[in-house]
Amino acid sequence: MQNPPRGPERPLTTSELALLLVDLDGVPDNLAAAHVDDGRGYCRGCLLPQTAPSVWPCTLAVAAREARALDRARRLPRPQQRG
Ligand SMILES: [Zn+2]
Repeated sequence: MQNPPRGPERPLTTSELALLLVDLDGVPDNLAAAHVDDGRGYCRGCLLPQTAPSVWPCTLAVAAREARALDRARRLPRPQQRG
């Protein structure tokens, strides 16, 4: 598997990741469904044979949760804004 291309000189924050995810239809839901506690405090979605298990909630779980919250917030009606 290839590493993703390096963009900014620092990693994205979880909130920045959430802002990217919120525009990808269904992705936050899929991530939230996959990255769940495995019952031992580790992320089920991050369990890969070649890596150590990630403590849950992992970055993706947190970012997915933020993205879903952002999505809900922007779907709220905005009675103050017209035109
Ligand atoms: Zn995970």
